[in-house]
Amino acid sequence: MSASIENQHYPDTEWGDPHPRREWFHVRQLDPGVHLISEPGHVNSYLVEGSDVAYLLDTGLGVANIRRVAESLSGKPLEVINTHYHFDHTGGNRLFERISIHESGAELLQRPASPETASAYMEYTQRLLEAWVNYKESDDVYFHLLTAERLLRPLPEGFDPSDYQIVPTVPTRLLHDDDVLDLGGRQLRVLHTPGHSPDSICLFDEKNGLLFGGDTINTGPIYAQTDESDLEAFARSTARLADLASSVSRVFVCHFMRMENPPVLLREVADGFQRILDGSATYRRNVDTYNSPVREACFDNFSVFISESAELGD
Ligand SMILES: [Zn+2]
Ligand SMILES: [Zn+2]
Repeated sequence: MSASIENQHYPDTEWGDPHPRREWFHVRQLDPGVHLISEPGHVNSYLVEGSDVAYLLDTGLGVANIRRVAESLSGKPLEVINTHYHFDHTGGNRLFERISIHESGAELLQRPASPETASAYMEYTQRLLEAWVNYKESDDVYFHLLTAERLLRPLPEGFDPSDYQIVPTVPTRLLHDDDVLDLGGRQLRVLHTPGHSPDSICLFDEKNGLLFGGDTINTGPIYAQTDESDLEAFARSTARLADLASSVSRVFVCHFMRMENPPVLLREVADGFQRILDGSATYRRNVDTYNSPVREACFDNFSVFISESAELGD
């Protein structure tokens, strides 16, 4: 069967249409009381519910109303926890009254972001949609890896990319390392894991073995190339997570298409950062979201972007 078959031969399917109109958010229950709320190809947020309160872990890009989605999934009072201050995790914060972030992110969250960041991300979105056409067509014919939640969507109807703004917000509560948040019948422990950014946290539901990795753990490139990244802190933070691996059953991450991972990923990422620091990692050249050149340390299940100027090894 050829990929050139005309769309109209299959009016009830998505054959040949790389950009079918779908809801912006993809929702899936991951565990009782835990939902993925994904913006496929962009960022993944998670809704975690207890008997008293529901926490939305990050609020996504802010190009569509994530609050409405979260409220449709849980009738509990809803609060936001940001895994760190970056705009792709806090874009929907403005829709909420109660927002928590690590204490070192309080000032960063309130700082106005440059308009260039917003427009650069929208340019990236355009490149992503263009790249998707060939990717989807190849997948349909050869690879069959794309499930419904991995289908990239065009930006929501009525959203104008030239209007995209990153809106600073004020946190209502500051978190500290080892804080335990009680949701009623479920607890989340705050693990301060600086490296990607100074305020990065992971959240650990120990009873259920669920670790929410923020941008500290990812599949695909882990971003450690920016001015605020700290490779040594990253290595310490990921070593700490690796030490928890025996109490973890599933690791949920915020970017790319493999959002659910086995705990062995924690050890692999910690080992990867160690190899970067001791000079034994292997690299290729790549570009990041903003088309800036980076070095990419490549490992079996993930990679790490580091700056072109980072000095590594002995
Ligand atoms: Zn980030
Ligand atoms: Zn991110």
